[in-house]
Amino acid sequence: MRHIVLLGPPGAGKGTHAKLLSERLSVPHISTGDILRSRIHDGTPLGKKAKAFVESGRLVPNQLVIEMVAERLMEPDAQMGFILDGFPRTVEQAEALGEMLKTRGNALDAVLDFDTSEEVIVDRLSGRRSCPKCGTNFHIRNIPPKRSGICDQCGTLLIQRKDDEEATVRRRLQVYREQTAPLVEFYKTLGLLRVVNGNLDVEPLQAVLAQQVG
Ligand code: AMP
Repeated sequence: MRHIVLLGPPGAGKGTHAKLLSERLSVPHISTGDILRSRIHDGTPLGKKAKAFVESGRLVPNQLVIEMVAERLMEPDAQMGFILDGFPRTVEQAEALGEMLKTRGNALDAVLDFDTSEEVIVDRLSGRRSCPKCGTNFHIRNIPPKRSGICDQCGTLLIQRKDDEEATVRRRLQVYREQTAPLVEFYKTLGLLRVVNGNLDVEPLQAVLAQQVG
């Protein structure tokens, strides 16, 4: 099983588990949020168009994100599979992904839906600290870095993402409910949905996911 989508609200743990699954299955972890933040940081034309959407917690227009993912999926490392984290986020994106895969003779193997309570989400996002360089996430209590405030992977000073501030978190949750939650039905109908308990801590949830992906 190598063509996998992680679905779930912000703060469900998709990024953390995507990294672990990507190592387990030897396929790339493709996070549209990480790619967009890196484009914004580099000031590319896409980054300039996406900045205001990302920072205010709204979705970047479908067209821009779909093109970005289509390009990423054409890279050599993604030919044998991928863990998609944060894409698709709308039905239009899900349909576009289906088309992209069909063109290359693939199909999704599973959509892992991280069913997570609002209380857990708010706690995870408010305590989350992120590396602006390599994208690794930590949590001040649950996943603390070895040295306080410093990324374990690359030694960069950790930050709180602008969109992890409380008002923006509320907007992101609303956007999730309105625009992304319909994908649960979409993928259920296609027989691809596997619901996992996103409230679990990292280790027990990774064990569940490992079983799911075989
Ligand atoms: P994430 O890191 O997945 O929480 O994404 C951070 C932000 O990037 C989101 O709140 C959106 O503004 C933008 N973004 C990421 N993925 C998508 C997507 N598939 N469609 C539209 N916007 C996205």
